[in-house]
Amino acid sequence: MKRVTILGATGSVGTSTLDLIERQPDAFDVLALTANCDVEGLAKAAIRTRAQRAVVADEGCLDALQAALAGTGIEAAGGTQAVCDAAAMGADWTMAAIVGCAGLKPVMAALEGGRAVALANKEALVSAGDVMTAAATRAGATLLPVDSEHNAIFQCLEPANRDRIRRIVLTASGGPFRDWPTDRMHSITPAQAVAHPNWSMGAKISVDSATMMNKGLELIEARHLFAVLPDQLEVIVHRQSVIHSMVEYVDGSILAQLGPPDMRVPIAHALAWPERMATPLGPLDLAGIGRLDFEAADEDRFPALRLARQAMVAGGARPAILNAANEVAVAAFLGGRIGFLEIAAIVADTLDAYDPGSPDSLDAVLDVDAGARRIAADRVEGGVARMSA
Ligand code: NAD
Ligand code: MG
Repeated sequence: MKRVTILGATGSVGTSTLDLIERQPDAFDVLALTANCDVEGLAKAAIRTRAQRAVVADEGCLDALQAALAGTGIEAAGGTQAVCDAAAMGADWTMAAIVGCAGLKPVMAALEGGRAVALANKEALVSAGDVMTAAATRAGATLLPVDSEHNAIFQCLEPANRDRIRRIVLTASGGPFRDWPTDRMHSITPAQAVAHPNWSMGAKISVDSATMMNKGLELIEARHLFAVLPDQLEVIVHRQSVIHSMVEYVDGSILAQLGPPDMRVPIAHALAWPERMATPLGPLDLAGIGRLDFEAADEDRFPALRLARQAMVAGGARPAILNAANEVAVAAFLGGRIGFLEIAAIVADTLDAYDPGSPDSLDAVLDVDAGARRIAADRVEGGVARMSA
């Protein structure tokens, strides 16, 4: 039995992970499930999977969790330290599916256990890539990419030919506004932005897909996961989301991974790795899909992609600033406080206004993150004041 923990068990990736685990109850022993404050979802999942422990990050939700788990024998805990403690329980396999930088400390706690960590929480790697990959190496932990593009790349990598890679091509759906001119984008609403044409995902990553910041974060994620140079990483818009990414070797061969746009495919790959397991998904209807299109990404209409690429090239604190400002701006957009085009503008302003030194520890990354959040929040206030003036 594989002993598993799911951080962010109530989210989109978390529930897809639970779906796979619950189909094979004899193969998995659930140690801990965590959530922010979705007590009902968390308690139900913990009871169904007979988890040892359930944890809410928001301490204010602990009483409700205790009540929901009364008499079940499942331990209940609350608070951010309790989430880290759950991540350190010694699972053989941990799914890191918390959204945003809130996942950083729990991911580090899981990595320090020295076992397999399936990483969906890309923001943690974007902000603290150097610190995290160093911690993984030190502890002997294996980072298994879950983001569909990175999982595809991981599947296409030939271990003996890591130094024979010409380039890595990340595919992007282009999001719901891929065909929109900029002047129409002013009026985009949160509801429009979270309605992704190909994937069903949490709100934050759906907005990131709509701005294409998601692909930018993924460039930085790939840089850390696969140790390639920035100019070996490319993005191409592929609207069908059938090819999840590609690796091109020096001989001109391109290896691609194809599959249905369902996160259970990459999650299953990471869950069974180095073996394979069945998923409930049917075969891809290639004749029905008919064609695979590719187009260059337009960084003028999607400036977030350019900002992220520049942050990747510059390195140091830039990716952490980019990510923090984006988290603040996306939350403000989802809250109806700023417009769609202001997301990238706030990220750009924050990057311009803030230039701390390279963070060399987790605490230093968190300081940069906090500093960037303050500046971005000021910019949001300024924008709100302008809009109401
Ligand atoms: P989601 O919003 O659906 O779920 C997020 C989970 O994190 C929930 O369980 C929530 O309770 C928990 N959480 C939220 N804030 C928290 C906090 N402050 N402390 C502790 N826990 C907290 O998000 P999602 O779409 O499942 O995405 C999760 C991560 O996976 C993100 O980093 C995202 O970029 C990445 N990812 C998602 C997909 C997808 O298809 N959804 C694909 C690739 C990568
Ligand atoms: Mg992805």
